[in-house]
Amino acid sequence: MTVAVLALQGAFIEHEKILSRLRADVIELRQAEDVRKSYDRLVLPGGESTVQGKLLKELDMYDTLYEQISGGMPVLATCAGMILLASEIEGCDGHHFGTIPMCVRRNAYGRQLGSFHTDAEVTGIGTVPMTFIRAPYVAQVQEGVEVLAAVNDKIVGVKYKNQLAFSFHPELDDDMRIHEAFLKL
Ligand code: GLN
Repeated sequence: MTVAVLALQGAFIEHEKILSRLRADVIELRQAEDVRKSYDRLVLPGGESTVQGKLLKELDMYDTLYEQISGGMPVLATCAGMILLASEIEGCDGHHFGTIPMCVRRNAYGRQLGSFHTDAEVTGIGTVPMTFIRAPYVAQVQEGVEVLAAVNDKIVGVKYKNQLAFSFHPELDDDMRIHEAFLKL
């Protein structure tokens, strides 16, 4: 199985390491010709969603990726990746891919608690370590979106059709169960 990891910016190498440990073949998406290669799954890593969104358009990768995601390709999105998938971003007129009907709040934990670590349950997976870095949370979900995880009553993990999205960074902890679940989607 070949997994394509968006490698424009942010924490993509950590995803690649875990996926390789799980014996997936990994390719990096860095430019337009990469999104025309053959792959079965897509990872949208953490980083800075505004930068990633801008680069996706400038590098002419956006339309093809949008078609792949809305066409049903399994996607694992973390942190900034989750923001890229949200149909609504609080305080912002537009959205990026917008393929999950939910509203996210960026940098939702404020400056004081910008980064933190906890353990919490993800439905179907169990209790996993969760590292949050200037993370968003999901302020609201619409019909069809399954809530997989919540921390302090804030939604931090969802599934919608082919898409898994988490506020935290499963690639930064030594627990591969989220990636395993993604490879089984
Ligand atoms: N704060 C970032 C954003 O708004 C997300 C942070 C992350 O991916 N760790 O895009």
